[in-house]
Amino acid sequence: MSDQNQERYEDSQLYRIRHSAAHIMAQAVLEKFPDAKFAIGPAIDEGFYYDFDLPRNLTPEDLVEIEKRMRQIIAGRFPFQRKVLSAGEARQVFMDQPYKLELIDNLEKGELDEHGNPIEVKPEISIYTHATFTDLCRGPHVENTGQINPSAVKLMQVSGAYWRGDEKRPMLQRIYGTAWEKPKDLEDYLKRLEEAKKRDHRKLGKELEIFIFDEEVGPGLPLWLPNGGVMIEELEKLAKETEYKAGYQRVRTPNLTKEDLFIRSGHLPYYAESMYPPMELEGVRYYVKPMNCPMHHKIFGSKPRSYRDLPIRLAEYGTCYRYEKSGELFGLMRVRSLQMNDAHIYTSEELFEQEFLGVVDLYLKYFELFGIEKYVMRLSTHHAKGLGKKYIDNERLWLKTEEMVRTAMRNGGIPYVEAADEAAFYGPKIDVQIWSAIGREFSLATNQVDFAQPARFNLVYTNREGAEETPLCIHRAPLSTHERMVGFLIEHYAGNFPVWLSPEQVRVIPITDSHHAHAAQLAARLRDQDIRAEADLGPERMNAKIRQAQLMKVPYMLVVGDQEIQADTVSLRMRSGERRDGMPVDQFIHMAREKIATRSAEL
Ligand SMILES: [Zn+2]
Ligand SMILES: [Zn+2]
Repeated sequence: MSDQNQERYEDSQLYRIRHSAAHIMAQAVLEKFPDAKFAIGPAIDEGFYYDFDLPRNLTPEDLVEIEKRMRQIIAGRFPFQRKVLSAGEARQVFMDQPYKLELIDNLEKGELDEHGNPIEVKPEISIYTHATFTDLCRGPHVENTGQINPSAVKLMQVSGAYWRGDEKRPMLQRIYGTAWEKPKDLEDYLKRLEEAKKRDHRKLGKELEIFIFDEEVGPGLPLWLPNGGVMIEELEKLAKETEYKAGYQRVRTPNLTKEDLFIRSGHLPYYAESMYPPMELEGVRYYVKPMNCPMHHKIFGSKPRSYRDLPIRLAEYGTCYRYEKSGELFGLMRVRSLQMNDAHIYTSEELFEQEFLGVVDLYLKYFELFGIEKYVMRLSTHHAKGLGKKYIDNERLWLKTEEMVRTAMRNGGIPYVEAADEAAFYGPKIDVQIWSAIGREFSLATNQVDFAQPARFNLVYTNREGAEETPLCIHRAPLSTHERMVGFLIEHYAGNFPVWLSPEQVRVIPITDSHHAHAAQLAARLRDQDIRAEADLGPERMNAKIRQAQLMKVPYMLVVGDQEIQADTVSLRMRSGERRDGMPVDQFIHMAREKIATRSAEL
């Protein structure tokens, strides 16, 4: 399934509504603070925002007032009127607005658009006016403010945002709002937000004792608690089984390496900003690795290879370190230490398509296993402007490999969309976007083609004709990093993991103290059968123990008392609420083992 054929968001009525709402909000803010300086106000995925430089911090009461004023402006049915003008005329219009003046400079030079995004063609400068408010803007807008449903607009929150995202520039106040076509859509959106809050992996991750962050360890460096440790082991087991069957070989490489390796790979200087600074020892500079690739390349190059050996698929759950700005760290989604489901496939051009589709196939297998129904594959290509800067300077190979990927995707019948100027520095890539059970979007993983690094590492194989040839390399990580994957899975399942992935699969609950010894024995018997089971031998009453197990989302609770001990049965209570009394222990073991072995989605 894919969204390929949907209307572009930028062309939709919803986009016009939201962007128009941003203008209306700016008008309301300017009426309240006549000295306000306003910066940019685009429509975003689920709403809009506008950045303001204001004499004081906004309060929740301000938002209520601004929202009220917005409704009045909407009711006025003011038309949005467009006017094209020269840069000089635009400077006159916005002479008291320094941010707008800077934007006009950028527009005039043809560098950035009015939202600060890079542009290719020098644009026409236009303004839009409604009621008393005029903005530097290329539109599009609704025809008049009355086309916005006043009951489907809501201001959400205020947060700080640096002008141009640059911490050396002024900190502005960003007001977020949302707007929909119908009040019902707004209501659904707010409900979704509520549900997403409940599922937030940062909150659930703590409650379910999966991971923590610790000040003294450092930001962006998660500590996996025992429950998280189990999940990670299960994911690695899954990867190892799947990859073994797909012909991968596992390797292991160090976390630290000499600077020379990353100069050769081209990570230095292209990727330097995302790397931790070097440490120096005996006159040599060492880096912690931000990627595993260069070391895998060394392994490929460690002995002569023939076309008969290809493809060679080297896999490693490698630990990498990347420097993300403090402000960009976000739970497990953006971290500084990460363990990646990494592998590099060295292939001839002849086998490229088969290998590339083999990787896509892995993604699809995992999507099915995790019940991921909605996803989009995005082909990110280079841009000529970035050659030699952001991208390896070889246009011929860019065009060629991009076309190879397109052909592979087409021949494999895999729907995809294209995004220009978003490739990796060494080749085109497929970014995979997935949606969780409640429709939250995650960017999960990439599948990248690399025509540059193998040559930089002098990697060769002997072809059929006995001549040396450079292989292509595919970088791939279908299960993403442990951090991102576990973060996603927590939100996707709301912590109700399938049995195979549940840190604790069974909790044995004795009815009274006199059943403790039996409960402990039963848990041991289950563990003996490779089922992760614990007995709750605490002082609480049985009902409190059941509640506790439910809070921890343990899939199976086994209650045992005199009757169960006598008959070697259990009273099974499932996380789903289903209950089966008098179930023979052996039958339960058989059932649980089967669910685990098949990685069943059902309890
Ligand atoms: Zn606009
Ligand atoms: Zn790589």
